[in-house]
Amino acid sequence: MIRINDNFIKLPASYLFSEIARRVETFASTHKGEPIIRMGIGDVTRPICPAAVEAMHKAVADEADASTFKGYGPEQGYMFLREKIVEHDYWKRGIDISADEVFVSDGAKSDTGNIGDIFSSECKVAVTDPVYPVYIDTNVMSGRAGSLTDGKWSRIEYLPCSEENSFVPSLPAMAPDIIYLCYPNNPTGTTLTRTQLKAWVDYAKSHNALILFDSAYEAYISEADVPHSIYEIEGAKEVAIEFRSFSKTAGFTGVRCGYTVVPHELKGIDADGKTVELNALWNRRQCTKFNGASYISQRAAEALYSEEGQKQIRDTIDYYMENARMLREGIAQAGIRCRGGINAPYIWIKTPGNLSSWQFFDLMLSKCHVVGTPGVGFGPSGEGYFRLTAFSSRENTAEAVERIKRLAAHM
Ligand code: PLP
Repeated sequence: MIRINDNFIKLPASYLFSEIARRVETFASTHKGEPIIRMGIGDVTRPICPAAVEAMHKAVADEADASTFKGYGPEQGYMFLREKIVEHDYWKRGIDISADEVFVSDGAKSDTGNIGDIFSSECKVAVTDPVYPVYIDTNVMSGRAGSLTDGKWSRIEYLPCSEENSFVPSLPAMAPDIIYLCYPNNPTGTTLTRTQLKAWVDYAKSHNALILFDSAYEAYISEADVPHSIYEIEGAKEVAIEFRSFSKTAGFTGVRCGYTVVPHELKGIDADGKTVELNALWNRRQCTKFNGASYISQRAAEALYSEEGQKQIRDTIDYYMENARMLREGIAQAGIRCRGGINAPYIWIKTPGNLSSWQFFDLMLSKCHVVGTPGVGFGPSGEGYFRLTAFSSRENTAEAVERIKRLAAHM
């Protein structure tokens, strides 16, 4: 029989969302007719904006005509999109990124998961805790994580984020080679100010570390002092790769499109001590293992940068952020502590009465019929917390807030 990659066996079963589904199903089957409000999984609910839909219709028409048909495209993405990305997302913010530093993909999950291909399995990794699980699991798969004890991997440095440090992690103590940062943060909804992010860039420079900066929620930033790109910080092009996604920006969770920026300044070193550009390595990786995001998705993404596209996606984000405000304020009025919801579509709730994440999950399900995500599912420091998303409808959000207030009044 074929010898397998044992690292996959080390991975615990993906327990979180299947366990949520199991508990919800059990509840629903015994409480028929009682409507459940689902605010657990981070998927959007609003339709794709008309500008992108129209662009997709046109792109389908292109594919249907021999004179405009598009087959395999460039692995790095079409120039029509890469140029729009650099112009709108970087040049307009005074950041000098060139189109050949942008790699269009089918989303940030693939890119944050695949990027590890270009680094040595010896590299030491640090993550903030709680964390988007993809960063950890993909390092387990590639043999960088060590062994699992009490919910932590032995070779991964966990940087706890809790109320005690206002969810801003301390700089690493164990000199990691790779640091994953996600801001605005999933799941805590927190951000770093310019000064705080600068401390990370400075740390990476002085310790020869690489920052993998996931800004999938960049479009939700509302405060002026929160950088939209890590490259707003001087010197970041020498130490950071940035990941972006159209999923939460424009409802592309089903369409699939995102991009990764690998500046030419970023260098690595091979076994002989020779310096290598990471841009060239990622290009090689993508050309070998990826055949490009679909033409239709890329045309849709391009349309988001038009004037009407920008306005339409802004309207949808505003809709979600009004939900976020209602949740944040309503939960606080109920006397329950929470964070997030200002620069991110997530509300991070401190479970009242010292309940564990799962105890609060069960309480919310049984008393409010509201489904959220137990914080412990994102890492050990998530214990005692609970995540709600702002991606529901306005009506359901308002109803959920009322139910939570009623619950709190009886606690
Ligand atoms: N990064 C973070 C932090 C996320 O929360 C998500 C999705 O939930 C992703 C990446 C995945 O984005 P995409 O849909 O582009 O794969």
